Amino acid sequence: MGEQHMDEKKILHTSRIGLWRVEFCDNEVGRFYADSMMDELLGITEPVTPEERQAFFLERIHPDDRELFREYMSKLTETRTEIVYRYIHPVSGEMLVRCGGCRDMSVTDCASIIGTHQDISDIMRLERDKFAERRLAEQNMNLRREQVIQENYYRDLLDVQSCGLLAYTLPSHRVIHMNKEALRMYNVKDIREVQKNLGTILKKVYYPEKETIEKLKRLRDEDVVVDYECIINKDSEKECHAMAKTKSIYLPSGERVAVTTFLDVSDMMMLRKALQQAQDGSKAKTDFLFAMSHDLRTPMNAIIGYANLMESHWGEKEKTKEYLNKLKDSSCFLLALIGNILEVSRIESGKETLHETVWDIRKLNGTLDVLLENEITRKCLKVTRHIDITHQNVLCDTMKLREILMNLMSNAVKYTPTYGSVDVNIEELSAAEPNHMLLRIAVADSGIGINKEYIPHLFEAFSRERNTSESGIMGTGLGLRIVKSFVELMNGTVTVESTQGKGSCFTVEIPLKLALAENSKPNEQQKPEISLKGKRILLVEDNALNAEITLTILSDAGIQVEIAENGEIALYMLRTADAGYYDLIIMDIQMPVMNGYQAAKMIRKLPDSRSKIPIIAMTANAFEEDRRAAFEAGMNGYAAKPIEIEKLMRIIAETIN
Ligand code: ADP
Repeated sequence: MGEQHMDEKKILHTSRIGLWRVEFCDNEVGRFYADSMMDELLGITEPVTPEERQAFFLERIHPDDRELFREYMSKLTETRTEIVYRYIHPVSGEMLVRCGGCRDMSVTDCASIIGTHQDISDIMRLERDKFAERRLAEQNMNLRREQVIQENYYRDLLDVQSCGLLAYTLPSHRVIHMNKEALRMYNVKDIREVQKNLGTILKKVYYPEKETIEKLKRLRDEDVVVDYECIINKDSEKECHAMAKTKSIYLPSGERVAVTTFLDVSDMMMLRKALQQAQDGSKAKTDFLFAMSHDLRTPMNAIIGYANLMESHWGEKEKTKEYLNKLKDSSCFLLALIGNILEVSRIESGKETLHETVWDIRKLNGTLDVLLENEITRKCLKVTRHIDITHQNVLCDTMKLREILMNLMSNAVKYTPTYGSVDVNIEELSAAEPNHMLLRIAVADSGIGINKEYIPHLFEAFSRERNTSESGIMGTGLGLRIVKSFVELMNGTVTVESTQGKGSCFTVEIPLKLALAENSKPNEQQKPEISLKGKRILLVEDNALNAEITLTILSDAGIQVEIAENGEIALYMLRTADAGYYDLIIMDIQMPVMNGYQAAKMIRKLPDSRSKIPIIAMTANAFEEDRRAAFEAGMNGYAAKPIEIEKLMRIIAETIN
């Protein structure tokens, strides 16, 4: 080895690179030449021969790498190649060596190999450390990723549950988890919103059982499980009934956490309520039927009873007259009762409409007392009336207004014991809408009053606080239902104040349109001169009894009557008679063979003047639709059964003229 330049030596020394040459001559042991750095790296401290160095070196190659090294040496060519192997240094132990060598072709008498020997143990260690660090970071990242996957998995798992879950720390109220179902039940967007307002949100929960709050408070210090019912967002659109279970658990940090699971039972509650209502409704209807059969029987018994009395006292004018009047009263009551039932069934089917005419509102006062007079006198009630109306003529449904007042007054009279008082106050208030007035009707009594618990059911159909047998007071539980429906149809309100044992006051307020000057004349019904003597009427009626009653009434008025048992016979009789022979036809509707509508339509199609004959429908179907159907079939008038003589005569007179 020649002399080395100082800088080169220094570089090689710091890089821990030694230089070597090995020569193999035929059958000789290899001769190993080395510079001082190479000897240092080999661990040779004493002077040695090249052969000794070769032996020293080969001995210290790591046994596992010797084969590899030998193969490397045997294949070396001119081109430099490298190998990394382990060398056992006699002092510092295992060393990682990067060895780079090639054949030196300038030497021809033997095989000469030259190369470098670099101790890369430190570099490798550093690399290994870096690698380890990188691996650690990678492992950490994988762990984190796994953790996120797991967290997402559990969150998804909780989110797909049909029960809500809310977990927060105690007592600090830090929300740990809230699944989708719980967010929905609480009607909040996300956990952040919950965290911000947890106090308010928890306060919005209502606990129907009083002890629940106390039990929940115990969770702060005790390991208990609380089962309870709660209503979240009570009385709002988002109200939610839930069955809940809260348990406290501990976080690894030692913090106490309240975990609540909720099951939304709102639908079940609704069904339960609907079932209860259906049961109540069906019970109310059964009660009603019982009351009804009793209530229908009472006037029926009176009718039959008075008819019998009249028969047995026939000839005693005064007595028969008295019985006759009572019989009429009972019939009227029966008719009113049936009217009420029909009214309610119309209301329930949504068919009720308003028929407004111009009317003098002051007529509300007094006229109805006549109907209650007997009862008022019998019970010695003190009735006072006060009316304060400025605009008399208004557009209103007279019948319905009277019925509202009638029902309220008859209740006041009915539910007030003897010597009590009933005060009726009718007044006009100014209305919000122009050209309108607000009619206020207040009926106050000093009667039995109404139990607070019953008030919400007051206006339900068929409902009564006490049935007839309990109270001894007759009724069907329909009056107030009718009142409320009529008032609402007129866009008004009805309210009640009542104290049990002291009395009640029902107040109705209805906005009414003021009648304009040109049509402000009330619709006074002009009673026409009734002179029907000598007229000939064809009465079409299949029921013999009804036919006889009508025949008698008409004959008494001097009218000639001929009877047909159904539409077909009537058509035949009309066709075969001369034109103008009959002045009018009274037509029942429901009849066998050909009903009233069909007959009227056929008559209107006749080819001559007979098609113009006036026809009055007379039927027990008392609804507006029936009246309309009669007119649509071509009839000119309409009279409801049972027959009221005066009304019938007036309709006949109006139709003929
Ligand atoms: P009815 O009087 O035929 O029973 P309503 O519908 O008119 O039916 O009234 C329903 C119930 O309300 C009555 O059964 C009664 O219990 C109660 N009620 C109505 N008006 C009064 C009143 N003025 N005083 C006490 N109770 C009343």
